[in-house]
Amino acid sequence: MAPELLHACGLESGYGRVQVLWGTELVVREGETVVLLGANGAGKTTLLKVLMGLLEAWRGELRFAGADIAHTRTDRRVRSGIAYMSEIGCFPGLTIEENIRIGGQFMTAAALRARIDELYAIFPAIAQRRKALASSLSGGQRKMLGIAKALAGNPRLLIMDEPSAGLSPLFVKEVIRALEGFRGQGLSFLIAEQNVKFLELADRVYTLEGGRIGFEGSVAAMHENDALRRAYFGLK
Ligand code: ATP
Repeated sequence: MAPELLHACGLESGYGRVQVLWGTELVVREGETVVLLGANGAGKTTLLKVLMGLLEAWRGELRFAGADIAHTRTDRRVRSGIAYMSEIGCFPGLTIEENIRIGGQFMTAAALRARIDELYAIFPAIAQRRKALASSLSGGQRKMLGIAKALAGNPRLLIMDEPSAGLSPLFVKEVIRALEGFRGQGLSFLIAEQNVKFLELADRVYTLEGGRIGFEGSVAAMHENDALRRAYFGLK
């Protein structure tokens, strides 16, 4: 089994006096794609923000690549190899190239140039419009830009918040295909989703219910569980 890259244990957090996470546990191993499934309001975004340091952990442990990062600043987490793609994914008021450069801001100029060229080769549709504002892209292309921006700094782990949000089924397929291309390259993914299509990518699944992990296991094991099948796949 691959070594653990991210390890969260007993995480508690929330907003003001409102507690949202109640002892959340989660592991992402090196090279693994983990999908975090949960309904609206289950606490997915809150958990991802705590993992990134955008929201403080009230209690619990958090380790990345063996180091304790529970109280590490967000920019230091990014430098240590964690990238985050929010639901919006990019800055609409900046150009495509400016967005990608922000994602790779901690790299040397030469390494970033080489990385940008690699990413343009992978995403030709955005490469053609590098001087255009991100707001001029279609929803699907904006997600591709979000992925390129998040990967510009060569992270070890990409944390994604609902990459399917606002996309038609066709674009959801395109995003899944783009992510498939990065699997098997040593990169790990943690993808929070409501859309079960993303399970196509999953090595392992967690379900988050009311700020607690309900299920952890393979997609096959999820299908074997009647309650989960009904809740997430709408099947009897
Ligand atoms: P969604 O798919 O709707 O984004 P989610 O699983 O990501 O759902 P969160 O956004 O983490 O869920 O929200 C979890 C709970 O925290 C919800 O009850 C929500 O109303 C509450 N919440 C989220 N953001 C805030 C905030 N800034 N202040 C107070 N409560 C918040």
